Amino acid sequence: MIKLSLSRTEALEAAIRRLPTHSPERSFLEKELYNITAGMRGEQRLMKKLIEFYSQEKYEIIWNNSLSLGNWPVQIDGLLLTSRVAIVIESKNISGELHFDNDTGEFYRIDSLAGKTVMDNPAIQIEKHVRFMKNWLREHAIILPVDGLLVFTAKQSELKSLPQNIRTCRTHQMIERLFQIINDYPTPTYTKSSLLTIRRLIENKQTPYIQKPLIEQYSIQPYLFNTGVYCTHCRTPTIKKHRRTWLCEECGLEDKKAPHQAVLEHFALFGGPVSNKEIRSFTGINDRHVIKRLLTDLDLSKEGAKKNRNYFLKKNRDT
Ligand SMILES: [Zn+2]
Repeated sequence: MIKLSLSRTEALEAAIRRLPTHSPERSFLEKELYNITAGMRGEQRLMKKLIEFYSQEKYEIIWNNSLSLGNWPVQIDGLLLTSRVAIVIESKNISGELHFDNDTGEFYRIDSLAGKTVMDNPAIQIEKHVRFMKNWLREHAIILPVDGLLVFTAKQSELKSLPQNIRTCRTHQMIERLFQIINDYPTPTYTKSSLLTIRRLIENKQTPYIQKPLIEQYSIQPYLFNTGVYCTHCRTPTIKKHRRTWLCEECGLEDKKAPHQAVLEHFALFGGPVSNKEIRSFTGINDRHVIKRLLTDLDLSKEGAKKNRNYFLKKNRDT
């Protein structure tokens, strides 16, 4: 089964492989990949901890929400629906000494090696998500208050000061904090069946997250990327066509999916639509019939006829 598109981390890995070893662009993307995978690990810690949430009252938890209001898209890590309040839960996997300066709204980390690093204030992000959910529920005629909880998931983190407006804790304190928030809202409004209806509505309204082409997102010059079909073993562009299969000239690995992977990398890096010629120059495969076959295998959308044909990824795909 051929994959339909690359995930964000796969796209970053591909971009890193194709950039010159000591370029600033490559080290920037390496840092970005590190942060994203750290975030994903943090989210997993949070999900694992939430197993300990047990309440006599009814509740529903929905993870990885991509919702939108008009043109305003948001991504919310976790949403806990209870009969009294909906709680937006966001995780941050940042290690070191963490400080919220409530006078300036600044958030920073003090690290023994790197010193002071100012970062986007996650409390402001969660306030925005709470405001979003209030509007979203109102728009769908659901009367339920919304609150938020910010959870720091890094094992080596120390909260030196807290934000004023958003409850904040570390993973091991999360369950207690959730009950404290729920207790702030004494009146239950919803029953189990109506909570389930809200859950289904939220699940049905998920909008697929559309990934921007990587060169656009990070402002990277297209010419910096190396071309060719990469070997997953040697991590070099040494895969070539040999009769009916694809082989690495370095290690002999046979990988029939490698050229399809290269086409998907082209889409992840540069977006679409794309022509047969562009894929020829990106993969270094100088045979328009072979490329046509690859593009057909991938079940892409097409426009234009014959030599003017362009291909693009079908919309509404999971990325
Ligand atoms: Zn190889």
